[in-house]
Amino acid sequence: MNVLDILTPFAQTGRIDTARIGAQLKDVTEVLGPPWNRGSSTGADGLPYLYAYGSLEVATCQAHCQVIDSIVVQTDWATMEWPSREPGQLETFPGYPAYGEVLRALSDAGCPWENYEPLTLEGQCAIRVPASGVTFVFTTEDGEEPMLCSASVAVHRPHSCG
Ligand SMILES: [Zn+2]
Repeated sequence: MNVLDILTPFAQTGRIDTARIGAQLKDVTEVLGPPWNRGSSTGADGLPYLYAYGSLEVATCQAHCQVIDSIVVQTDWATMEWPSREPGQLETFPGYPAYGEVLRALSDAGCPWENYEPLTLEGQCAIRVPASGVTFVFTTEDGEEPMLCSASVAVHRPHSCG
């Protein structure tokens, strides 16, 4: 597996297996087991709302229903860690895919994208896939080819808990 095997279907669908906006955290833990890490911040009910399996981060609403409201693939790791199909095992592969590699993978998959101005700032640029809402943010520092820092999707209007 390499990072583009993850990013391409994520761009097309906005989901990573059972991790999708509007699903519950338990839908993910049923398949992947307990999260490897949890955020230290907690919501109103005392539960963390950020969970990670290596480079895969899932954030939930801040209440007991734990509905997923964002999914992030952190690609700014020299070596990414990813949950494997075998429970309890992890896969590793290089991170920081280059701008050209990512766009070529999207193009080969027939996945349209557009420049995303709200996150195109000094030192970074961004693209967005309209079909899924997945946004890719690249660092443009050092004058070299931009490198992907993260790919993510998030709800704009959280569901109302309780
Ligand atoms: Zn909720």
